[in-house]
Amino acid sequence: MASIVIVGSGPSGFYAADALLRKLPACRIDIIDRLPTPYGLVRGGVAPDHQSTKTVQRLFERTATRESVRFLGMVEVGRQVSYDELKTAYDAVVVATGCTVDRKLGIPGEELRGVYGSWFFVGWYNGHPDCRDLNPEISGHALAVIGNGNVAIDCVRVLAKTPTEMAKSDLCRHAAEVIAQAPLSHIYLIGRRGPVQASFTPLELSELGQLERCTPLVDGATLERDIAAADPQEVKVKERVLEILRRFAENKPGDKPLNLHFLFWSKPVAILGRDRVEALRLEGTRRADGAKTAGERTELPVSTVITAIGYGGAPFPGIPFDEQRGIARNIEGRVEPGVYVVGWMKRGPSGTIPTNRSDGVAVAELIAADLEAVRVQGSSSKPGPAALDALLAERGVKPITFADWRRIDAAEVKRAAAGRPREKFTRIEEMLAACSDREITR
Ligand code: NAP
Repeated sequence: MASIVIVGSGPSGFYAADALLRKLPACRIDIIDRLPTPYGLVRGGVAPDHQSTKTVQRLFERTATRESVRFLGMVEVGRQVSYDELKTAYDAVVVATGCTVDRKLGIPGEELRGVYGSWFFVGWYNGHPDCRDLNPEISGHALAVIGNGNVAIDCVRVLAKTPTEMAKSDLCRHAAEVIAQAPLSHIYLIGRRGPVQASFTPLELSELGQLERCTPLVDGATLERDIAAADPQEVKVKERVLEILRRFAENKPGDKPLNLHFLFWSKPVAILGRDRVEALRLEGTRRADGAKTAGERTELPVSTVITAIGYGGAPFPGIPFDEQRGIARNIEGRVEPGVYVVGWMKRGPSGTIPTNRSDGVAVAELIAADLEAVRVQGSSSKPGPAALDALLAERGVKPITFADWRRIDAAEVKRAAAGRPREKFTRIEEMLAACSDREITR
């Protein structure tokens, strides 16, 4: 019986497990994660007010509770177990660790106090233990979000919604308090190109037009009719985006307490301030003749900057890494026979959660073919899960099981205020205390 270990329990890891169980019904699968909680981005990345997106967890739960599958939390490769040990123990290692590093703007002032990358900012409001102590300072009247993707939109929406609008979300209490007290009256959403090139999608964009205390504003002159520049496959989507923005262009500033300004064709060139952010300098990029930039400079008096300009992966110990793209070096998901990558670690930070389904199917095909080549499908000479168990026991590591996670889950649901799906534990110690009286074995 083939044994497979999947490193990372986010959507790409779970979709890979699901596809593997279909392709190789007799295989044994261990899904390991460095956190005590499964589901990766579904828990730590998906916006707290997008609960319907999180229902995919039910599918993952079905996979996790299959007899041939185990979840082992608090097991980190490079700490409790090494990559080489996994390769020795299992017929296949699938790395599904995602992208966890904020891309950098590479401009002066990026290191100033008051500048936050979206991976950390989103992780902070979603209660990811790594980001719990970010404590972003949102103490001024104006804030800028740089980037025109759906993550930028998520950040804006979470900042703009009122506590009532968030009442059915699982926005963490520590973040809800900071956001509710923020004296914001202007949010600037900065795109270095135009609305047709923006990567946010119509549904997410239109949500910004339905907010209780926030008015979206855009200068109609920046919404040029350059739909011809769009990929022909995307023309309909781009038309919808322009239609929504044209509606926003009719809004008047000051109608509501919070003004959301869409600034297109504006490239950030410096963040200014002595020891913390005082302003963001932008340069116009609107193309007059198809090649030259306008070059006009403006300064926005903002005191907080959130960069939402995409992510990269963190190098995985032992796997060759493409520094430029921020992903593992791989060919169609194969690093070498026996080692595979899926999800953002394979292809970079693009697509939605279901995009991982096809990645999972593809990797299952690859693994089946490689195992067939060495004739492991029916039988295996590798020790599999027993070897991992022995290594962990030897090191005094007691992994979090799926049953443990269910206790954490139940405790989070139980402590939530009425109407809210859960109040997350945001520190590992709290999670461990919720599932047992175990000691921390980090
Ligand atoms: P994204 O869609 O790639 O957007 C990144 C944005 O940052 C782009 O507008 C890009 O502009 C801009 N950017 C990059 N470098 C920049 C720079 N140096 N200066 C200024 N702007 C810069 O990435 P994302 O928003 O992080 O989203 C990641 C993935 O998650 C996407 O596939 C997204 O759809 C998905 N997601 C989906 C949802 C949802 O479905 N609701 C929610 C969140 C995330 P250029 O185009 O000019 O490079």
